[in-house]
Amino acid sequence: GTAAVSMALTMAACGKAGDDKKDAKGSGDTKSIGLLLPENASSTRYESFDKPFIEAKVKALCGDCTVKYSNAEGSAAKQKQQFDTLIAQGVKVIILDAFDAKSTQAWVKEAADKGVKVIAYDRLATGPVSAYVSFDNEKVGELQGQALVDALGAKAADANIVMINGDDADPNAGKFKAGAHKVLDSKVKKVVYEQSGEWKPTVAGQKMGAAITQLTKDGFQAVYSANDGMAAAIITQLKSQGINVPVGGQDAGLDAIQRIVAGDQAYTIYKAYKPLADSAAELAVNLLQGKDIKSVASSSIDSDTDKGIPAKLLEPKVVTKANINDTVIADGLYKAADICTGD
Ligand code: BGC
Repeated sequence: GTAAVSMALTMAACGKAGDDKKDAKGSGDTKSIGLLLPENASSTRYESFDKPFIEAKVKALCGDCTVKYSNAEGSAAKQKQQFDTLIAQGVKVIILDAFDAKSTQAWVKEAADKGVKVIAYDRLATGPVSAYVSFDNEKVGELQGQALVDALGAKAADANIVMINGDDADPNAGKFKAGAHKVLDSKVKKVVYEQSGEWKPTVAGQKMGAAITQLTKDGFQAVYSANDGMAAAIITQLKSQGINVPVGGQDAGLDAIQRIVAGDQAYTIYKAYKPLADSAAELAVNLLQGKDIKSVASSSIDSDTDKGIPAKLLEPKVVTKANINDTVIADGLYKAADICTGD
């Protein structure tokens, strides 16, 4: 009757009919892109930048596509569940920032067998991923090491350093550490204390406390922190004991930029989130629509499990007091007024 016809029309007009999101062969959802990010305790980047930038670019490239987002909140088990949920929903392309890159091999393989394409985002997941987009992460470490040396100035050669690294489950953490050592080992006196802060501010603060107890207040002249979230806790710990030495981080978080302006943090590393997110969105939409990805990911990289993964690696930058204007403000990440409130 009429009711059934108009009902069918409404469903079609609204794109609500269950089959609209399936392609001709009915082989899955052609309008959804999964986005799985690893944590949000030690960095504001994920929900302030990565997520909204990816969503905006996906919309711009594919007006009726949607992004299905979940955050693993620092749990490999949770991320596996989130991944399985996307697969069960029929999602065919997943942007995966692996919480534990080693644990993904089996699930990425299973997904690939079902025709699901996985893009490794920022952290290089193991398993047969279709592409990888990130920064030159060893370069991040080198820039961090050099920035710490620069902050020490003439005192560098006699300086003892405390290093608080990232989580071992994250392959980037190893690259940051290796890059930093490459510079520090020849330019400072010694790395006298080195521990993983596990990408957890609380752990980083505790390790800093242990370092102070072990080395005493005069036993170190600077602190390398792998990122800003951990640097915040380290700086709080140092201040509570009246210690003032250069500390650096990574991610260009708003509070880190404010600490740099205030003189409490020496530097951060700015990784341009927009081009990273844009590339991931472009790769995802191209894969979803069966288009070529070589124009986006034109270089290649090997993971622990796979060779010749199409990749795009962007260049990180150091941010100190001297170039806040030319970096995070020029790129529109923050306005000067956001940074300066309260002072
Ligand atoms: C990212 C950093 C981030 C850290 C902790 C790394 O893989 O590259 O930007 O601070 O994870 O989430």
